[in-house]
Amino acid sequence: MTDTATLGAQGHVPADLPTRIQHYVDGELVDSADGATFDVLDPVSNEVYLQAAAGKAADVDRAVTAARRAFTEGPWPRMLPRERSKVLHRIADIVESRDARLAELESFDSGLPITQALGQARRAAENFRFFADLVVAQADDTFKVPGRQINYVNRKPIGVAGLITPWNTPFMLESWKLGPALATGNTVVLKPAEFTPLSASLWAGIFAEAGLPSGVFNLVNGLGEEAGDALVKHPDVPLISFTGESRTGQVIFGNAAPFLKGLSMELGGKSPAIVFADADLEAAVDATVYGVFSLNGERCTAGSRILVQRDVYDEFVERYAAQAKRVKVGFPHDPDTEVGALVHPEHYDKVMSYVEIGKSEGRLVAGGGRPEGFPAGNFVAPTVFADVPPSARIFQEEIFGPVVAITPFDTDEEALALANDTRYGLAAYVWTNDLKRAHNFSQAVDAGMVWLNSNNVRDLRTPFGGVKASGLGHEGGYRSIDFYTDQQAVHITLGEVHNPTFGKHEHL
Ligand code: NAD
Repeated sequence: MTDTATLGAQGHVPADLPTRIQHYVDGELVDSADGATFDVLDPVSNEVYLQAAAGKAADVDRAVTAARRAFTEGPWPRMLPRERSKVLHRIADIVESRDARLAELESFDSGLPITQALGQARRAAENFRFFADLVVAQADDTFKVPGRQINYVNRKPIGVAGLITPWNTPFMLESWKLGPALATGNTVVLKPAEFTPLSASLWAGIFAEAGLPSGVFNLVNGLGEEAGDALVKHPDVPLISFTGESRTGQVIFGNAAPFLKGLSMELGGKSPAIVFADADLEAAVDATVYGVFSLNGERCTAGSRILVQRDVYDEFVERYAAQAKRVKVGFPHDPDTEVGALVHPEHYDKVMSYVEIGKSEGRLVAGGGRPEGFPAGNFVAPTVFADVPPSARIFQEEIFGPVVAITPFDTDEEALALANDTRYGLAAYVWTNDLKRAHNFSQAVDAGMVWLNSNNVRDLRTPFGGVKASGLGHEGGYRSIDFYTDQQAVHITLGEVHNPTFGKHEHL
């Protein structure tokens, strides 16, 4: 364990920083059954600052048992949506009132710039508010059927939802699953990412204060192959909502198959940003620089392959490189910082290995290593490669850091072929002032989400998700409500019974 003086020398240490976190089961903070813990590092110093309980199958079983009991015996699934909604609004209020503290801890644990961590904390509150309102606003489907019959759809919570989340924007992504799972009356077991468990440990206090009954929310920390694996394989968990890497998604898909579990998967991406010659170049440069380097480039929807029409290619590359060089790398807690420290030395090594690979695959025009003035910690200078061929690894593989590949194209057909030349299909960004071209391109591109002359701004009612190796299913708005509920069809006869009956009535 590092003493805080050493950490402080590297950057900034939040006051009252926890040094130990536990699981949360049935309203109690508990250690692992075998007492095991794992180390959590501060991404600025790469020193251990926190010990987290390392859950295994026994701990997951304990949490699932509590969640199952809360589901079968507790009030939560039986409450009216508007009663649950009040609790969710209180959760949002508490998150909002602590946004600065949440951001400070998240930024320290993950290396995200503090201003961006603050935005993510506020988004987490918004997610709770959104689903609190949605479950109340939702009109139940009722159909009048000839023969004085009524059919209606009874939306029922499913049971214990297993929520498995990644380390990028952890608190916000947890809220994106917790909000709809709880709003619809399920109980949950959350398994947060092992690189960044700190902010997740705050949910317990927030939920208890908001009045969520014990056992409805449970949290097991631990490694993916241990705690995550046990959650996926637990027979009393009918739903798994997972966000993470595509290859982890494949493993989870296989492990959930024998149980035929409901699965929602938000996976990796290598999203194209396509800049046509008729685009507003300044807006396109601004947005595509932000789209790759914000959140440290650790963003699933990062437009990390930029395809630029030949007529404006040289000008675009020059402006883009100049702007990338101006992006301010700094300590995560500094409000002026635009790119902070990558989450973990393992991830830093992976990103740096792609930077080295890129040097033989493309033309380096910005960055390419550690930024000046940061001899230690997981800092990477915003890195731009131009003239990258589509066969290059840095064009095909998700790097998940501040590294971008730029490639020229001539025709619309070529742009589309390049955009779709990847196993992923999460997002696409199109920059053009030609309306027909923009829509035609959107229709044809393999992407779950398309932004036209726009960068990542979305209403929470729209579906979020990817195609191909980027995911399975969609979250957002009513799609989340559908995922977390059974839609039972109930058919009622109001008048005399005239249902088909052998021998008595004519068949209807
Ligand atoms: P990861 O797949 O390594 O881990 C995600 C979570 O899965 C962690 O909690 C981990 O402990 C757990 N896990 C790992 N192995 C497991 C197993 N065998 N069984 C059950 N759980 C297991 O992903 P990561 O590195 O934390 O996150 C980065 C990835 O997430 C990137 O690929 C990124 O694109 C993706 N992502 C996607 C979206 C989206 O909405 N599509 C959003 C954010 C991140």
